[in-house]
Amino acid sequence: MSEWQPGGPSRLDMLLFLERVQEMDLARTREWIKREEERLAQGAAVPEYVAQNGSGPAMGMIHKGTCRPLGADVHAVTADDARRLLHADVTFACQVCRPDTALGLL
Ligand SMILES: [Zn+2]
Repeated sequence: MSEWQPGGPSRLDMLLFLERVQEMDLARTREWIKREEERLAQGAAVPEYVAQNGSGPAMGMIHKGTCRPLGADVHAVTADDARRLLHADVTFACQVCRPDTALGLL
């Protein structure tokens, strides 16, 4: 932490801000846990691929079913649909799980 500067936020203000940020992170993680527990309770099988909806002007993304990003708005798609969405340039392939490689697109 840098030196305290006159007129700036106090060290206590900054610590209280940090506390609020961490409380929001914890609340978000607890919501993810609740959703995952609900998903598991429904006996949901892991789909082969999922499409993640884009937010705002952002394009969507295709993932392997095992790379479901926590908290993301996703829905299951078949391999054919995943291939079609990637071909149509309306979605990106996730750079972590590389569904494009698994689909033989590279
Ligand atoms: Zn992924």
